[in-house]
Amino acid sequence: MHSVQRSPEPSSLASFRAVHSQWETLHGGERRDIRDTLTKDFGEVCAYCQQACQAPAFGVEAHNAETIDHFRPRSRFPDLWLDWLNLIYACRRCNRSKGNKWLDFDQDTFSRGLQRGGHSLPSEYVNPNAIEGRRPANEFFDFDLDTGEIVPATGLDYTAGWVASRTIRDIDLNDSQLGENDPAHLLNLRLARKILLDTLIQQIRTGAYEESEARGIVTGFARLGQPFSSFVGAYLASEHPDLT
Ligand SMILES: [Zn+2]
Repeated sequence: MHSVQRSPEPSSLASFRAVHSQWETLHGGERRDIRDTLTKDFGEVCAYCQQACQAPAFGVEAHNAETIDHFRPRSRFPDLWLDWLNLIYACRRCNRSKGNKWLDFDQDTFSRGLQRGGHSLPSEYVNPNAIEGRRPANEFFDFDLDTGEIVPATGLDYTAGWVASRTIRDIDLNDSQLGENDPAHLLNLRLARKILLDTLIQQIRTGAYEESEARGIVTGFARLGQPFSSFVGAYLASEHPDLT
């Protein structure tokens, strides 16, 4: 997950909110403005799993179809239905996995940990929006570079580690829904990205590109808006630090 600096909200959304209170009544023009601005902010990759999204096609339920997710679910936070920063560009898979889930402390392990250590109470999943004074989303996670699995970053405090693991579990960022041999499985997609990068790096190592050009190409893969850029960034930092 990347930490994304958001654009100001589209003016059509602000005007709409002044007179309406329900998401369902949004018209095509406002939806298009929202989608266009979200696409610009997040690239065309899911804010959560970072797979490349595709425009929804009529009658096709692709797992990677782009959707607009309500970070705080509409069912639990009706006042935030039209809140700009609550709207997140996400693939259908992540949007569905997240569904109406939200952090619930009553009978959770966090309550027991909280009693032991006097930790601060987390208020939300890892938020893909860059928010002043808050830990950026990418700092919550790390990757197993061999399997492609996303894991909580090492060295987080109790609260941040708990939030990271609940985010991974509840949005299913290691994808339990598809069979592990399915090429659309998130782990396979992350590893495919690594294979693509390895091929390129092999060419670079044999002198196919000028050094600065090679570095530009490689770091381009880790840029926001590129598929699995966080995984790619972790891989480059670990295995090919000279190219970053
Ligand atoms: Zn996703």
